[in-house]
Amino acid sequence: MSRIDLHLHTTHSDGSLSPTEVIQLAHKANVTALAITDHDIVTAIPEAMAAGIDLGIEIVPGVEISSSMGSSELHILGYCINWQDSELNRRLASLRESRHTRNPQIIERLRSLGLDVTYEEVRTLAGTESVGRPHIARLLMDKRYVTSAKDAFDRYLAEGRPAYVARELPQPADAIAWIRAAGGVAVLAHPTWAKVAGEGLITLLTTLKDEGLGGIEVHYSTHTKKQTTEYLDLAKRLNVLVTGGSDFHGITKPDIEVGTGRGDLKVPEKLLDPLKKAAFLVGRS
Ligand SMILES: [Zn+2]
Ligand SMILES: [Zn+2]
Repeated sequence: MSRIDLHLHTTHSDGSLSPTEVIQLAHKANVTALAITDHDIVTAIPEAMAAGIDLGIEIVPGVEISSSMGSSELHILGYCINWQDSELNRRLASLRESRHTRNPQIIERLRSLGLDVTYEEVRTLAGTESVGRPHIARLLMDKRYVTSAKDAFDRYLAEGRPAYVARELPQPADAIAWIRAAGGVAVLAHPTWAKVAGEGLITLLTTLKDEGLGGIEVHYSTHTKKQTTEYLDLAKRLNVLVTGGSDFHGITKPDIEVGTGRGDLKVPEKLLDPLKKAAFLVGRS
């Protein structure tokens, strides 16, 4: 059965597979269209497009921008962006720069806890400009300080753990504006991260919609049936688009597959056209 997958990471951010490898997996999973949405970077898109042409898979140019609101980290997905837009690329470069000041601080904390790790090792392992905590987690796995990426976050890297360092993140309104300025549609990723439900979530989404949000990621690997239904109802109620994706990362999230998530994800193909139409309208506004 064919499907689409609008949320995937590659080696250009914290995924473990190249764009071509991700698209080969998508082909095997009968995915007809997909979006590469690396964190704060768009450099995977040309390779993805070439592989997509080879295998007959439509590639939607995407990005995932981390933002923060209060104590919540909100991820804003950008779809159908003009990925070569110079202003967008300048913004993304400065976001990546802020990771470069944070990551060495995390490494310092790990070292002070007695772990033998260096930032140089993380950069070598990452092999990309978009270095993130999952790369540090992988280094800790390689050095057998932890048994899995989850173990690394639970013991050291998650908020409240001893090697956690907060990062200066943009406001969601800024991330939304940057995506729209590059002709894209802004969508709230994995809404559970907002840490609010019910009326609180409606208020948040109404604010974000006023700021230009165009959709909600309703279908997602970890969503329960109840959450999917709740977000679907909210999208209808607020008259915003519905999207969905696996958030595939490869080895960093080993239980999540391209296209099928934990096995039962199915993002309907019919969601793609409204997304492209919305981007067309953004481009003309
Ligand atoms: Zn995310
Ligand atoms: Zn993601």
